[in-house]
Amino acid sequence: MKIIKILPLFILLISMLLQSACAQDQQIQWQPELTDDWTPVTDSVSTVGHFAAPPSDATILFDGTDLSHWESAPGYFPHMQGVPDYLEALQRDHDPAPWKVEDGVMTVVPGSGNIKTKAGFGDIHLHIEWRTPEEIDGDGQGRGNSGVFLQGLYEIQVLDSWLNPTYSNGQAGAIYKQKAPMVNASRPPGEWQSYDIFFEAPHFDEDGNVIKKAYVTVLHNGILIHHRQQLQGPTVYIGLSHYEAHSRSLPIGLQDHGDLVSFRNIWIREL
Ligand code: MG
Repeated sequence: MKIIKILPLFILLISMLLQSACAQDQQIQWQPELTDDWTPVTDSVSTVGHFAAPPSDATILFDGTDLSHWESAPGYFPHMQGVPDYLEALQRDHDPAPWKVEDGVMTVVPGSGNIKTKAGFGDIHLHIEWRTPEEIDGDGQGRGNSGVFLQGLYEIQVLDSWLNPTYSNGQAGAIYKQKAPMVNASRPPGEWQSYDIFFEAPHFDEDGNVIKKAYVTVLHNGILIHHRQQLQGPTVYIGLSHYEAHSRSLPIGLQDHGDLVSFRNIWIREL
């Protein structure tokens, strides 16, 4: 009998505690550092890279001659307010890609802005080769930073991560701010490196609910660093991500983060 008498009081106490916990959660003041994941430090493996000629059914996005498949892109996603702003920005007219092409290589022109493919893509295998400057300038996130933005929304980080400590989920090959690579397969600055990225685009229903989340598998210099990893949502710099509905097919972006990062031999196979 005693237990029955105090049961309502007990339930009331539990519900008050739950409400208090929820209120605290809503009061979190998100700072960029709160989603930096410094541990564990990812083990390093040495590689020679994986520099693959395009197969016969690939679409060539950059063969070293010109940027005809690319155009300038408005700000990269973490600077946008959200997916709708990004989609709206895609509708605008775009100028030619402002990066430099020389000796078969395209290089970021710092301050000129991001670039994106003219075409949109959904499920893909993307091969891309990249190189950070041989001369080390800066540290952490300020050293050879760029990024491959799948559908312009989901960043696979490009960074000089050779003996360059930073948060693990922000190093080369990280799904930025979401998942560190399984290993650090980085080569020294000035050396060419490769990503083979297998991306499954998210699906949304007519009401905008996500019915299949995005997944990504990544080889860095031929080494598996993500195996069908589920994405939490688009890349965000501050706070936690969540999905917002978008088209099944969107352009691929490359990031101008102010560093002289170069790219070559970019090709794609639609899956
Ligand atoms: Mg980046």
